[in-house]
Amino acid sequence: MGKIIEGDKIALKLFKEIKDEVSKLNRAPVLGVVLVGNNFASASYVKGKIKAGKKVGIEVKVFDYPQTATESEILEKIQNLNNDEEVDGIIVQLPLPVHLNESIVVNSVRSSKDVDGFTFYNAGRLFRGKPLFKPCTPKGILHMLRESNIEVANKHVVVVGRSNLVGLPLSRLFVEADATVSICHSKTKNLEAITSQADILCVAIGQKEFIKSKHVKKGAVVIDVGINRDDNNKLVGDVDFNDVFEKVSYITPVPKGVGPLTISMLLMNTLSAYKGDFYE
Ligand code: NDP
Repeated sequence: MGKIIEGDKIALKLFKEIKDEVSKLNRAPVLGVVLVGNNFASASYVKGKIKAGKKVGIEVKVFDYPQTATESEILEKIQNLNNDEEVDGIIVQLPLPVHLNESIVVNSVRSSKDVDGFTFYNAGRLFRGKPLFKPCTPKGILHMLRESNIEVANKHVVVVGRSNLVGLPLSRLFVEADATVSICHSKTKNLEAITSQADILCVAIGQKEFIKSKHVKKGAVVIDVGINRDDNNKLVGDVDFNDVFEKVSYITPVPKGVGPLTISMLLMNTLSAYKGDFYE
């Protein structure tokens, strides 16, 4: 029988800690969110960030641009936010419309305000073990394992997915935590032979319910990062929850698993940017 890792409850505890800290500050920390175009999923993620910010006293200011916005308009806005002393963190909600160069836009965020940890500078620092800000989803996953008393050191962790957003930084954090890490992707041959060796299996591929019981070792811990819609428009993960449930020792559900931790870590990083207590 599996045990569900309740991400929403772990996140609530973090919200409380952040709220307590924020209540002692001279002003509310501010997170600037640059949103371009009319991507439905992005708009709903931004709403979630505003709501979570309200819960802890962090102001989330959204700068909403139409699909037709030019790169120079967006870069000018980010420059203003970089120079605004009352803006602590800045994120660019991805994906951007295709006519905007994502690398140029994301890298224009000042590294000391890059609370997503997405700039090349911060990604480089992460891979040298000295990040200013750890990317939110990977940081949230390591936190939820710690809170669930799941040992990482000396474990074989298999990460399926090698994106710059999730798979690669997550793998880096596991290496740092003394795990032995295998990284799989769409070109991996015989995926099942590798995933079924995992003590901890993390899946971030964006393929609904792709991972089945045959991919999972008995007693494994399964972390499902995926957010997909099934045919009935219901949110489902990259793991077939019902198929693997009996076999695993722990599993994160979708929703209420990794997602709430991602938002908590974004707020945590914003608080850290306000305090300036990140590593220099
Ligand atoms: P990307 O599309 O950027 O990357 C997907 C990765 O999965 C790629 O490395 C790809 O391989 C690999 N992949 C795709 N199909 C397969 C397959 N059949 N077998 C093995 N590997 C495969 O996605 P992201 O990393 O940005 O996001 C992954 C999922 O996580 C999405 O569902 C996204 O919505 C969700 N997400 C959830 C968050 C949360 O807070 N819960 C936060 C961020 C993302 P290749 O490199 O070879 O193409």
